[in-house]
Amino acid sequence: MTETTTSSGGRPSLPMQGIPQPRRDEVLDLPRVHISSHPVMAHKMTALRDKNTQPPEFYRLVKEIGALLAYEATATLALETVPIETPMGPMVGERLAGGIGVTPILRAGLGLAEGFREVIPDAQIWHLGLRRDEETLQAIAYYNQLPHQVDLQVCYAVDPMLATGGSAIDAINVLKRRDIPRLCYVGIIAGPYGLLKLSQTHPDVDIYIAALDESLNDVGYILPGLGDAGDRQFGTF
Ligand code: URA
Repeated sequence: MTETTTSSGGRPSLPMQGIPQPRRDEVLDLPRVHISSHPVMAHKMTALRDKNTQPPEFYRLVKEIGALLAYEATATLALETVPIETPMGPMVGERLAGGIGVTPILRAGLGLAEGFREVIPDAQIWHLGLRRDEETLQAIAYYNQLPHQVDLQVCYAVDPMLATGGSAIDAINVLKRRDIPRLCYVGIIAGPYGLLKLSQTHPDVDIYIAALDESLNDVGYILPGLGDAGDRQFGTF
């Protein structure tokens, strides 16, 4: 989540109070939005959301859900042919055409990125930490491991909770300054408000999520959601 600092050092307490939100059914059919319908995903999501699920199990589930999302989000990647020899003789195989980047938005995106690595071990991991300057509302990267030389076919920005959409939009803005042909956002749960915001701000970005929930509460948390995805992964309650 993008950290927002205030001049007094505090945090805005009720950022969503009084803000109108779209209904779930109003954003279900947005273009480029992919909501998983896999039964194994639904099963794991229930365990993830359960308040009795403790951090070690929660982190393991985030990784497994990340791997399932990676499988869904990579279904349309480009391939190139490559001649190989099997033990039985020559054949023309296929391999991914161009590199894959994964950008975990710190810190909650770390578990999802690990799930991606299970599926694509040679993906490049570009860690990105963002905070928002209260005066200018500009996103400032306080940690940025995006390499200078970029040669990818796609980069996935990963962050579990698409709530207000602020950090996802900021992260895509940062990635758009690089020469990457295709950008995607991958999250676990979206609220209608953030999903609509991200989709409208970056209509060229594919969005993959495991579930679309009902709304945000006044402090910007997703309902019914799962609480704080960072705290639940890392045990910082
Ligand atoms: N970030 C979280 O961790 N949870 C939410 O519900 C919203 C943002």
